[in-house]
Amino acid sequence: MKLMEYQGKDLFRRVGIPTPSGVYATAAGDVASYIAAHPGSWVLKSQVMMGGRGKAGGIKFADDAQHGEALARELFGKVLKSIQNPDGEEVKSLLVEEKVDIASEAYVSIAIDRAARKPVVLVTAQGGMDVEEVAERDPGAIEKYWIDPAMGYSPFIGRKLAFDAKLPEGYRKAFPSILGALYTLFMDYGANLVEINPLVLTKDGRVIASDAKVELDDNGLYKHPDIAKWNKEQPTDDDQAAAVAIGLGMSNYAKLPDEDGRIGSVGVIANGAGLGMGTMDAVKNAGGGAANFLDIGGGAQADLVKKSYNLVTSDPRVKAMFINIFGGITRGDQVAKGIVEALAGDDVRKVPLVVRLTGTNAEEGRAILAQAGFVPVETMDEGAARAVALASGGK
Ligand code: GDP
Ligand code: MN
Repeated sequence: MKLMEYQGKDLFRRVGIPTPSGVYATAAGDVASYIAAHPGSWVLKSQVMMGGRGKAGGIKFADDAQHGEALARELFGKVLKSIQNPDGEEVKSLLVEEKVDIASEAYVSIAIDRAARKPVVLVTAQGGMDVEEVAERDPGAIEKYWIDPAMGYSPFIGRKLAFDAKLPEGYRKAFPSILGALYTLFMDYGANLVEINPLVLTKDGRVIASDAKVELDDNGLYKHPDIAKWNKEQPTDDDQAAAVAIGLGMSNYAKLPDEDGRIGSVGVIANGAGLGMGTMDAVKNAGGGAANFLDIGGGAQADLVKKSYNLVTSDPRVKAMFINIFGGITRGDQVAKGIVEALAGDDVRKVPLVVRLTGTNAEEGRAILAQAGFVPVETMDEGAARAVALASGGK
């Protein structure tokens, strides 16, 4: 799960990393009233997942309420584009923050180094720009330190990194405790990545996290239900919103781009992202292409199966559907019931359907399908081949 900046900063504050004062806003009027109540210089920061907002025109500066309101109106609804996200992302909310006078911008992050099986800390004095850029141009300017999780963090690590990365003097005192807090966040919240870019040294000598990028491991979210629920609150595109609307997680449904001018025409429903990807590969091996993909998750009930069927067929490119379920927590009979219910309605778009059920209650599921006149397939490859043939008008 990727967090937006304002959410990342919420976690920063929980562990004691200094952030600029400010407010989260979803309407231009709120921006105006906040600035009116707190005179000074403010930054309006578009809250989108993609990075490089500065370059994309998503960060503006305002000195009074009226100007702030005008800029907010300009930003709300604007679609920001970057190299990583050429389709763009619409701005739906803003973070209004105290504008700080920057003396220096540093970069610090912690990520998992899977080869070393340790968290690795990256620090450079050249913050503010993409760290990839620094790595390419001046790799020696990036200092690394692998933290032994059994030993944990000690302030000497922060002191050494600040010194080796030649952070300006002003950082030296605050940096070890900020890095310690960042490490606490990384471990306690099960992060894959935490990044502060820039970690700002202000002209009045404060060290502040001016930006926040946090990615949490979904497998650890059960430990923090208050954060897990953010996942459903912040859909950033139509597919994510559609997935959330039927009760799935944000990343459980995605339309796929048309590859090499070849339009994918098979709708795919599977339980589990891994099985979903395998299913899409099988469709490709069979000479076709997936139009979209829906991960129905574990323990899918009949009602969710029905909603999922409708979502997948709402994509007009879908000419046939392949439902591939490996029953574990998900029960075959529940899935079969959902399919039969979905197709019983007059309000659904019916497309040729291929179902493969295996695992828990597969027998019961197949019986339900057989009664409704379906012949389920035995293997994934067989199902993929059938679906591809049906999508291209064959039998
Ligand atoms: P990103 O472009 O999405 O990474 O967004 P950032 O939060 O990193 O902001 C981009 C750039 O905007 C920073 O590197 C700063 O140069 C500038 N910026 C952001 N906040 C402030 C601020 O409070 N004061 C000043 N002077 N510049 C800021
Ligand atoms: Mn940044």
